[in-house]
Amino acid sequence: MGSVYLTGAGPGDMELLTLKALRVVKEADVVIYDRLANPDILKEAKSGCEFVYVGKEDGRHIMPQDEINETIYQNALKYENVVRLKGGDPFVFGRGGEEAAYLYERGIKFEIIPGITSAVSAPAYAGIPVTHRGVAVSFRVVTGHESPDKEASQIPWNNFKTDDTIIFLMGLHNLEKITKKLIEIGKASNYPCAVISKGTTADQKVVIGTLENIVQRAEGIPTPALIVVGKVVELREQLNWFK
Ligand code: SAH
Repeated sequence: MGSVYLTGAGPGDMELLTLKALRVVKEADVVIYDRLANPDILKEAKSGCEFVYVGKEDGRHIMPQDEINETIYQNALKYENVVRLKGGDPFVFGRGGEEAAYLYERGIKFEIIPGITSAVSAPAYAGIPVTHRGVAVSFRVVTGHESPDKEASQIPWNNFKTDDTIIFLMGLHNLEKITKKLIEIGKASNYPCAVISKGTTADQKVVIGTLENIVQRAEGIPTPALIVVGKVVELREQLNWFK
């Protein structure tokens, strides 16, 4: 019976992989990976390493989560070193907690290897610091997967009224609803907003606007993409370093 390494692959730029993640990938007998993990990382594995793709796209699973859990478990029965490679950080909207709990219940040893989350690194590569002295004392990371007009929403929108920076992951297809909702709770319609697509990669695209015009400006931008709302977006004018 082996160990499972629930490993963060970082946001895209291969060099944002941690040394620990690189080590376990090199030692892996099998790597079970997502769409968002940079596929170049797999080239670091030893020859004979098995690769299992369990991709998901914006929460739409090619393989349902319970099957992913079972796949990891079955591989742990078969192999000594099992790497479960997930985009960004495994515990930031990565369902890594569920995977770890599934293994715990079955007596499988596991380790968590945190990764650099897209939530802060994609803004960083766009020249947007998520906090900034005098501009933002906090940032909130929210799922944008849930439609804001859903009845019995789990998201406490009214708590966001006084937030400085708000970052939505998985929210591109709900961008219009999200911006409307933020205006509805009292954010100014000219409040700064950015959409960052394929952050930290050579294909990174950044669109800057306001709650009012970002939907139109970001039209057609590809996923994965995240949304940053807040005055920190304006710092990009000075801090945009990644070209
Ligand atoms: N665990 C991941 C997030 C998984 S949810 C992490 O920590 O980064 C998937 C969402 O993450 C996507 O819908 C998108 O909003 C965001 N995302 C992941 N990689 C991204 C990237 N390179 N650029 C922009 N957004 C990204």
